[in-house]
Amino acid sequence: MSKQFDLVVIGAGPGGYIAAIRAAQLGMSVACIDAWETSEGKPAPGGTCTNVGCIPSKALLQSSEHFEQANHHFAEHGIEVKDVSLNLDTLLGRKNNVVKQNNEGILYLFKKNKVTFFQGKGEFVGQGDGGWNIKVTGKDAADLTGKHIVVATGSAARALPSLPFDEKNVLSNDGALKIGAVPKTLGVIGAGVIGLEMGSVWRRLGADVTILEAMPEFLAACDKQVAKEALKAFKKQGLKIETGVKIGDIVAGDTSTTVPYKDASGADKSLVVDKLIVSIGRVPYTDGLSADKVGLKLDERGFVVVDADCKTNLTNVWAVGDVVRGPMLAHKAEEEGVAVAERIAGQHGHVNFGTIPWVIYTSPEIAWVGKSEEQLKADGQEYKAGSFPFLANGRARALGDTTGFVKVLADAKTDEVLGVHIVGPMASELISEAVTIMEFRGAAEDIARICHAHPTLSEAMKEAALAVDKRALNF
Ligand SMILES: Cc1cc2nc3c(=O)[nH]c(=O)nc-3n(C[C@H](O)[C@H](O)[C@H](O)COP(=O)(O)OP(=O)(O)OC[C@H]3O[C@@H](n4cnc5c(N)ncnc54)[C@H](O)[C@@H]3O)c2cc1C
Repeated sequence: MSKQFDLVVIGAGPGGYIAAIRAAQLGMSVACIDAWETSEGKPAPGGTCTNVGCIPSKALLQSSEHFEQANHHFAEHGIEVKDVSLNLDTLLGRKNNVVKQNNEGILYLFKKNKVTFFQGKGEFVGQGDGGWNIKVTGKDAADLTGKHIVVATGSAARALPSLPFDEKNVLSNDGALKIGAVPKTLGVIGAGVIGLEMGSVWRRLGADVTILEAMPEFLAACDKQVAKEALKAFKKQGLKIETGVKIGDIVAGDTSTTVPYKDASGADKSLVVDKLIVSIGRVPYTDGLSADKVGLKLDERGFVVVDADCKTNLTNVWAVGDVVRGPMLAHKAEEEGVAVAERIAGQHGHVNFGTIPWVIYTSPEIAWVGKSEEQLKADGQEYKAGSFPFLANGRARALGDTTGFVKVLADAKTDEVLGVHIVGPMASELISEAVTIMEFRGAAEDIARICHAHPTLSEAMKEAALAVDKRALNF
């Protein structure tokens, strides 16, 4: 007999598990189904983000940054360490442990909030009196019925045509997070967020890393000045980055992979590497969902089609996160998950796409919210800009990390903040202040008049806001 729920969520990534918990908090009976499991067959909720995305990549970035600091920067602080060596097994084991703690945390939250978890694959069967019928296959096989369904099945790494991932030599983000020995040479195709983060990790650990990017411009989605500053820093660290390349037919051998390509000038070149990471974007994942059986509409690229409220073409079927339009970011998925749960409960869930922050966790970090100068110019929007370098910030000097700057863009007439762009230390944390100000439609003067603790990196934000009206105090 089918088990009846108010809501059945398919997928327990950040979109799905957050939707499930919020719905349970609002009084609904909720089931959440997820297929991800550990190598021992245990449930591993948390999706791409927890298992092979945000969390493990940040664990590796942290460990590799410690290694880099010990090797190259401790001496500046008068700390002399000799014979620094790497225990990669321990480093990867720590990362696995961080992932496990997050998996367990989600299972704990399900229990605490009375969300019934099903380990297995969820599939649409049809529609009955009580709602949509969903079949779970796998460890917790069951038949479920949900008055409402949330599809939160996420995304998968995009492979190059005719070069499938073998996760041995040709790696997706999954394989890139568990290379068993530091490769001498590493190629990365795609200088996006994942390519830069993974390239940085393995360079810090000792690999000779070359990143090939098809777009003529480096970090085309970023503010131009930020991208320029970041490129300079990455090159100084030893990352080799080539843009505007055209990749030829890659030959993956047993011990090395050859990447023929034309460089930006059209010259033929070839890159031979021990390992190759392909990070050319992600594709929506709906395999095994039987979307066609119930007529759930997908677009030509495979995304579940939704309206602004995340409603699909089927009554009471919603979709959130990477499987629908919009930025493929964990916090965007979470916001949509909360909003959908609240809408089902009759409330007015809301997601502001104009204030979703973007972060690249390299060193220096890159973070931004709102529009870039290039976008404002293209929109014909009159604006004022103020920026402040970390070189002139006391805390950055004390940290020994003075690369980069903060840039604030504000409406020329009203002073409303339209965009904030940061490249530098802890940009990922600093950007939240800008998001808050923009969420309240605040002005550059609001940032400038807020008391910021001294000495902090956040004072660079205040100074950049002051510079919008040419009255920076410390520069
Ligand atoms: C290397 C890497 C680093 C990243 N770093 C960041 C970062 O720092 N910050 C950030 O914001 N974003 C980051 N992302 C992106 C982020 O991981 C995704 O945007 C986010 O995970 C999307 O959440 P989601 O819930 O939509 O889908 P997912 O996290 O992909 O979860 C979908 C879940 O659904 C399950 N599933 C699929 N089909 C079924 C089915 N039929 N039945 C049952 N279960 C099913 C899957 O097993 C999976 O667990 C990163 C991604 C990668 C790859």
